[in-house]
Amino acid sequence: MGEEKTTQTILVVGGGISGISTAIEAAEAGYSVVLVEKNPYLGGRVAQLNQYFPKLCPPYCGLEINFKRMRQNANVRFFTMAEVASIAGEEGNFEVTIKLAPRYVNEKCTCCGKCAEACEMEVDNPFNYGMSRIKAAYLPHDLAFPMRYVLDPALAAGGEAEKVKAACAYGAIDLEMQEQTFKLNVGSIVWAAGWSPYDPTRIEYYNFARNSNLITNVQMERLASANGPTAGKLVRPSDGKEAKRVAFVQCAGSRDENNLPYCSGICCLASLKQATYVRERYPDSEVTICFIDIRAMERLEDFYVKVQADDKVIFVKSKIAKITQNPETGDVTLEGEDTIAGQPVKLTVDMAVLATGMVPNTAECKVPLDAVSYDPYGFLPSDTGVSGLVGVGTVKRPNDVSSCVQSGTAAALKAIQSIVGR
Ligand SMILES: Cc1cc2nc3c(=O)[nH]c(=O)nc-3n(C[C@H](O)[C@H](O)[C@H](O)COP(=O)(O)OP(=O)(O)OC[C@H]3O[C@@H](n4cnc5c(N)ncnc54)[C@H](O)[C@@H]3O)c2cc1C
Ligand code: SF4
Ligand code: SF4
Repeated sequence: MGEEKTTQTILVVGGGISGISTAIEAAEAGYSVVLVEKNPYLGGRVAQLNQYFPKLCPPYCGLEINFKRMRQNANVRFFTMAEVASIAGEEGNFEVTIKLAPRYVNEKCTCCGKCAEACEMEVDNPFNYGMSRIKAAYLPHDLAFPMRYVLDPALAAGGEAEKVKAACAYGAIDLEMQEQTFKLNVGSIVWAAGWSPYDPTRIEYYNFARNSNLITNVQMERLASANGPTAGKLVRPSDGKEAKRVAFVQCAGSRDENNLPYCSGICCLASLKQATYVRERYPDSEVTICFIDIRAMERLEDFYVKVQADDKVIFVKSKIAKITQNPETGDVTLEGEDTIAGQPVKLTVDMAVLATGMVPNTAECKVPLDAVSYDPYGFLPSDTGVSGLVGVGTVKRPNDVSSCVQSGTAAALKAIQSIVGR
């Protein structure tokens, strides 16, 4: 691929709601934007949600509108399966090297699915957080943008590759695709790499790996989704039994010096929302929310009040210290202390959900520039230490979608200021 020179261009790294919002705002203001996303699709973790709080609408409505705005605006170019390998230069004139991983499927793909039918190899489906497997020739999810299949590298390099290629009548499979790099000159950079769920296996006292009917809040989103591993049925993983008695463990690992010391701000609302998933599916269900404090600020408090009005959603102010699973019944028992009554709490349910917090992706995967600074948890501060480089959305702090969208507008303005008049 040739070298490109576009000094007035803004680079946005990460194609979740924060990066997409930034890219669209800057493009609609007339600036040239390049968006790079490491997944084979745009949308980030919002694409994996079942519904949005507080209105409980499907997240894809909002994403679709944004994808349409992107398609209609020639100022935005985007690359999927793309990452930033290096950054040199300075504000107004950064030279960035972009690395593109091979997709092995080109733009001729019609999504006919014949390659998946011919393929026997299966891989873990990352879209469902490990709760299902998928063919190694796959569409990342049924509403993926761009709507194009992808081949797992193990399939492309293995014995089945030619058979899968032969199944494609459109010449869309290209097994010769290689990793590519290309350089871009950009005036400013917006880092929108987002977040990952806190690893529940690190909370030793909850025995996540041993309790199969203990899931995380992000897995609960997939379980409730019509395009999830159970087609939206809320059943427990061990035996497919309907999960009618469900407990939520708030602050799972959060506000804990040995795990995530901070509050993620959104996991109380996520559990309130997920309580409605259970209650709507099963009228005879009962949900218990074991909480330390409920964080539902400003307009979101109305949502809390609405969920509280359901007398089958029980709130227990408590700290859960131990979780076990009965090997015969599959039932999960939570033990801890009711912090109002000062009494022990013991509760047995069909399935329990850990409300784990958000870890910025910049905690593990740093911006490839030594001068960038981070707070003690890996979040990017407002002053990143590099003029012309700003963070947006959940790399700055844990946040909900509407705050990320607002943050996108602010980041677009800052990025424009870096290049205006140069
Ligand atoms: C259980 C749960 C439920 C939630 N429910 C709601 C809800 O109902 N309503 C609501 O408003 N909010 C909800 N949220 C919060 C919501 O998920 C976040 O606000 C949102 O995902 C933040 O978007 P983002 O773009 O900042 O990050 P992300 O969604 O993480 O997107 C970041 C993108 O950057 C990409 N990326 C990462 N690193 C790189 C790199 N180095 N190079 C290129 N690309 C990269 C990622 O692949 C990803 O696509 C929920 C959160 C949780 C935990
Ligand atoms: S790669 Fe070919 S066979 Fe596979 S979905 Fe696309 S067009 Fe169909
Ligand atoms: S939002 Fe709620 S569950 Fe999440 S860390 Fe804060 S108090 Fe705990």
